[in-house]
Amino acid sequence: MAEKQLLLPEAFLARMQSLLGGDYPAFLNSYSNPRTYGLRVNTAKISCEEFEQIVPFSVKRIPWIPDGYFYPEDVRPSRCPLYQAGLYYLQEPSAMTPASRLPVVPGQKVLDLCAAPGGKATALGAALMGDGLLLANDVSASRAKALLRNLELFGITNALVTSEPVSKLAERFPAYFDKIMLDAPCSGEGMFRKEDALAQDWSPEKSDSLAQVQRELILHAADMLKPGGMLLYSTCTFAPAEDEGTISYLLANRPDMTLSKIPGYEGFADGIPSCGNGDPELTKCVRIFPHRMNGEGHFLALLTKQPDGAFSEGAQDFRESAAGRRSGKASKNKAAAQPGRPDKQSLALIRTLFDEIGITAIGGRAVDDTRIAVFGEKAYYLPSVPVDTREINFLRHGLYLGDLKKNRFEPSQPLALALRKGEAAAIVTLSLGDERIAQYLRGESISVTPGETSVQSGWALLTADGHPLAFGKLVNGVLKNKYPAGWRGI
Ligand code: SAM
Repeated sequence: MAEKQLLLPEAFLARMQSLLGGDYPAFLNSYSNPRTYGLRVNTAKISCEEFEQIVPFSVKRIPWIPDGYFYPEDVRPSRCPLYQAGLYYLQEPSAMTPASRLPVVPGQKVLDLCAAPGGKATALGAALMGDGLLLANDVSASRAKALLRNLELFGITNALVTSEPVSKLAERFPAYFDKIMLDAPCSGEGMFRKEDALAQDWSPEKSDSLAQVQRELILHAADMLKPGGMLLYSTCTFAPAEDEGTISYLLANRPDMTLSKIPGYEGFADGIPSCGNGDPELTKCVRIFPHRMNGEGHFLALLTKQPDGAFSEGAQDFRESAAGRRSGKASKNKAAAQPGRPDKQSLALIRTLFDEIGITAIGGRAVDDTRIAVFGEKAYYLPSVPVDTREINFLRHGLYLGDLKKNRFEPSQPLALALRKGEAAAIVTLSLGDERIAQYLRGESISVTPGETSVQSGWALLTADGHPLAFGKLVNGVLKNKYPAGWRGI
């Protein structure tokens, strides 16, 4: 028996034995297998084909994830400039499954309710391709900061990052979203191989109390979904009460929600009806077991709200205007009262900087001046879908563009990362393996030759083989370091 099994709680092992029957020995043996390591390509910035051509370490496709790759244990992908350029996210392979099974398309309104540190939100944001809205929430303010950082690294331009109790969002956004991800807080049984501490901290009572939290969260999630919209519920636990149990509770309490089939993979196991209310529909859920495929443990359920559900579009309009009345203003005034509209001088300073660097598009879409907002010294690029953020506790609304100083505008690091290859004309191009990239990302200024730069002075974007990394200022053949201290060592 593997050493690690001895550390697993007995009550957990007894439950797994009765759940798995003849598969139990194989399940136990899987704890002696090494854990797997994965990364997911940011397809809003680079295609998988191009990634495969430039990645400087060995990768192997994850068969059930279109943009996912395994990498070897001894590789440190976070030290590669492609990581600092936001071209991939490091994520345990089975944890990539939920976002890959929620069919998000550009232009939609998408909510990730328990989003930190961003494993799913970065994938959902990439799928939107800068068009539509991603509301990424986490009730923990400190974890929400990490979420914001990862969304910025990924160059997501259209996110509203909040740290609110889900009940408050539910009151504010009834029947509003096309797609919702609820990657619920759970007992983490599927991660015991990866994180010992989770196993030490586990108890049946904790799992039961988390099941109560999940029941509350999933009803709120269903109520925020538009008729016809889809909800992906996921956990990284095997606990029946937190998996099929929570889904059974939802189906009993929201009759307009039905289970949908999840695009399959040979390693997936069906949901287990006896773990919930016995309804055979629960087989449409997916369970991921480490002895059946190359990943840790997960549970997924995909649900659709009936088009003729409790809320019609008319009811939604009524509720939105009621929310507006509650906060003291009619919703028709929202556009006119759009806060942060820049004055002419601020807009001119931003434009001047954009012209100097030759920025005509951000995140794959032409720059739209009407999306620029200024609050104090800071300028932002708002999502293309207007959202009323009054009374919402948010960390970021849109993309932070930079700072207005006296008579000039300084671009931000998130703006550098939101630019795709080819979206800036003033660039410094170093090859991926060039030592000077690491020096620059440590905060040093670097010498560059005329052949490596498209301009000889002023603001320029440092790139690794054309992929944007950070802004700097060219003076006499030196790229002066403008990489913010807070970004060094990410
Ligand atoms: N989706 C994330 C990802 O892929 O990176 C992981 C989310 S983690 C499984 C669950 C998250 O739920 C935690 O970040 C935690 O702070 C948050 N959480 C815990 N209780 C919550 C609650 N009552 N409401 C909203 N979020 C909650």
